[in-house]
Amino acid sequence: MIIGIDLGTTNSLVAVWRDGKASIIPNALGQHLTPSCVGMDDDGTVLVGEAARARLQTHPHLTTALFKRYMGSERKTQLGKQTFRPEELSSMVLRSLKEDAEAFLGHKVEEAIITVPAYFSDAQRKATRVAGQLAGLKVERLLNEPTAAALAYGIQDTQRETKFLVFDLGGGTFDVSILELFEGVMEVRASAGDNFLGGEDFVTAMVDAFMTHSGLAKALGGKELSGSGKQRLRDEAERVKRALSESPAATMAFAWEGAEYSWECSEDALARLCEPLMQRLRTPVERALRDATIKASELDSVVLAGGATRMPLVRKLASRMFGRFPMIHLDPDEAIALGAAVQAGLKMRDAALDEVVMTDVAPYSLGIGIARQVGPNQFEGGHFLPIIERNSTVPVSRVENVATIADFQRELSVKVYQGESRLISDNIYLGTLTFPIQSKKAGEVTADVRFTYDVSGVLEAEVTVLPTQEKHKLVITENAGVMTPQEVEKRLTELAALKIHPRDRMENRTLVAQADRLYEQLLGHEREVLAQYVAAFQSTLDKQEPVAERRARESLVQMMRQLEGGLFL
Ligand code: AMP
Repeated sequence: MIIGIDLGTTNSLVAVWRDGKASIIPNALGQHLTPSCVGMDDDGTVLVGEAARARLQTHPHLTTALFKRYMGSERKTQLGKQTFRPEELSSMVLRSLKEDAEAFLGHKVEEAIITVPAYFSDAQRKATRVAGQLAGLKVERLLNEPTAAALAYGIQDTQRETKFLVFDLGGGTFDVSILELFEGVMEVRASAGDNFLGGEDFVTAMVDAFMTHSGLAKALGGKELSGSGKQRLRDEAERVKRALSESPAATMAFAWEGAEYSWECSEDALARLCEPLMQRLRTPVERALRDATIKASELDSVVLAGGATRMPLVRKLASRMFGRFPMIHLDPDEAIALGAAVQAGLKMRDAALDEVVMTDVAPYSLGIGIARQVGPNQFEGGHFLPIIERNSTVPVSRVENVATIADFQRELSVKVYQGESRLISDNIYLGTLTFPIQSKKAGEVTADVRFTYDVSGVLEAEVTVLPTQEKHKLVITENAGVMTPQEVEKRLTELAALKIHPRDRMENRTLVAQADRLYEQLLGHEREVLAQYVAAFQSTLDKQEPVAERRARESLVQMMRQLEGGLFL
């Protein structure tokens, strides 16, 4: 039996082909989505999924998320005393999904089809295969995410040649792909996107609007909400955002320091306030159409994937841009995993769809560290200036001009990074080029920084100092982002020795993690009440009496709901 896995940036899912159709397998908590989060419990056991996600705020040094962004790189994440590579963290998510599948199907599962973004490079694909291997899975094949979404919608059954676009808007990433199905082979013609655009940005826009319209900003008088207040307000905005997918208006309410703040948000108000985001959604679509040399009117269909495409606003934008209604009859969160299961079904019948894999793109943005002007004569270092943008077709060569910012600077130091973050501290450092320059007033020495990236993943950074035309060069070969078979073998044994939190106790562990998160947000008497309920629940856990345990769990859940004012997720 081959399972289909959508290994996502924020959430992952597992699906199976059974009785002639694809269906999602629920996890130990009965949910379809497993957050792609990994953490260490206080006793050193590994937590995966919702329990880890709930601890992101309370235990940031023991928990991690978004590691898919670093697949194929050597970036290490420290959790407690141990460090992990991105593929090792991914392997823990895969292992957990594998166990869910085994519990659901009642037998061992050893093979999987795992989906990857169309723009994943060779190193990123290899890292994904290694993640599967480390999880004890034979990766039958990797499938492009947009191809999977298309398979879920049965596009492979179309007899004629067909061109379509997959519009995938998740929590934090946006991917657009244009595909063509021709004689039973699927080809990605173009792929574009924005690694920092997703449902979360709509929440941010709503929080900002709430601040102004409810009078909260005025009450705070320029101060920021403290950490837990900020999260509570985001949770409320998330709730209202989802409510607005069902009804034309909803009220956002928030209590702070004894006062109540509220704002009624209508569909129209949301549309106005999200206009800049709508514009950002249009750009990659236009770029993908341009790259594929296709007009929107030539597309045979449009497929939506990712939870944020549930927003009517986003659906309307898609309808308007493409002049037709997109295909939406599947749950957009589930389309990719279902498609992976369809491919598994086809594979088991020896009828799998072939793909032309597109790897001739730069998988990350490449750029340098710079200082940005934040006021008159005031600069702030640590900013990232992308020179080659992610998804550029390789080979590619681009140039940016930079200038000195300090008077009589004697040296120029160009630091090279890869990644998608605004700040260099969140990107991956690749190397530095340092050389002496003429000592002149700030801004008088300028230099062209040229980046050239070729098909074998070699990046050449060349700096030409303009007054003198002097050139300096740095060559960075694709980092050793792929583990060797020997390393895989060694880590397989080491990872197998890690204690994984038992699946059958996951529900209780997740609840305690959620209670801890809530505890941080509360104060005074409410904290006290919650602490008592958690202590009572934990003491029944030690006794291992199923009935008492269920009762204590139910009363803790009920109390948490009350304390959250009905916002228990
Ligand atoms: P994904 O990464 O595909 O799981 O997408 C998660 C994103 O979808 C999050 O930003 C959610 O807020 C968003 N989302 C999920 N359900 C809804 C809904 N009913 N209405 C609006 N956004 C939603």
